[in-house]
Amino acid sequence: MQPLLEVRSLRTHFELGDGVVKAVDGVSLTVPRGRTLAVVGESGCGKSVTARSILRLVEKPARIVGGEILLYDDDAGASGAEPLDLLAAKDKRLRQVRWADIAMVFQEPMASLSLVHTIGDQIVEAVRLHENVGKQAARERAIEMLDRVGIPDPKRRVDSYPFELSGGMRQRAMIAMALSCRPRLLIADEPTTALDVTTQAQILDLLHDLQQELGMAIMLITHDLGVAAQVADEVAVMYLGEVVEQGPASAVLRKPKHPYTQALVRSVPRLGQSQQDRLVAVRGTVPPPYERPSGCRFHPRCDAFMAGKCDTTVPARVRSDEIDVACLLYGEEQS
Ligand code: SF4
Ligand code: MG
Repeated sequence: MQPLLEVRSLRTHFELGDGVVKAVDGVSLTVPRGRTLAVVGESGCGKSVTARSILRLVEKPARIVGGEILLYDDDAGASGAEPLDLLAAKDKRLRQVRWADIAMVFQEPMASLSLVHTIGDQIVEAVRLHENVGKQAARERAIEMLDRVGIPDPKRRVDSYPFELSGGMRQRAMIAMALSCRPRLLIADEPTTALDVTTQAQILDLLHDLQQELGMAIMLITHDLGVAAQVADEVAVMYLGEVVEQGPASAVLRKPKHPYTQALVRSVPRLGQSQQDRLVAVRGTVPPPYERPSGCRFHPRCDAFMAGKCDTTVPARVRSDEIDVACLLYGEEQS
């Protein structure tokens, strides 16, 4: 079956005074229909920039310099219609896609909620921008969405300002707003990272329930493999601006192919370990942003490093079992 969204060789660079930081440099991934893809990796690997690039929400000095982002039709290709390339689409078309087809929630909802408008007014505006519905109907939709995301007393809360809500409630309100136009894809960038563990679990459950109900796909950006294991159907692993492995969550998290993923999975804390202990199992440090290692970008940190090969040859993405992996231990190599 056709995916819902396909990112091909996306490159988003930061053009700074003293050089170019290739934050996203050849990201390819697919988002399956109606399912959850978790995009995981250490901070700074380009997850958020990838997410923002999909809706062309990157700002100077960041610039999308290459790639394709293909949004496919709802009928899974039965009509044979060409997908829409979001990178080539006119601004007007892209504005239609935002909210109505693809909505986004961020780690800090205050960054995307307006402080001077009530939650209800913001949802009403989003709905009416995309659908031909009256004010009253849109307000009823807002109340219904607030109810669905578990905000108590939604008839009263619809007239609250964001600052009147707790962090967890604000994140729920943000999700209600994102889902008010019934998007086909929700991109959620670390939506629970700022929340306590209990609220985090509630929000993840909520997303799962809404997904079942609305049939939407979710692209969840997270640095937390535990979160990915809890919610994802598919996992894509990013390292230094590219996806090194994508496949079914059960396979990628239980039997990862890429040495980087293997190290990440080994680093998942057992019960009682602190948050700080995470991600320490990957040997060495992330190289400075201006320098990308030659050949395989992971080679300076890789336990399976093959001299004269991994430092000179860029690994192509190959299929191994059900997993797509970019590592010279698998399949044919590409020079
Ligand atoms: Fe390690 Fe070589 Fe595979 Fe890169 S290509 S992950 S250095 S084995
Ligand atoms: Mg981020």
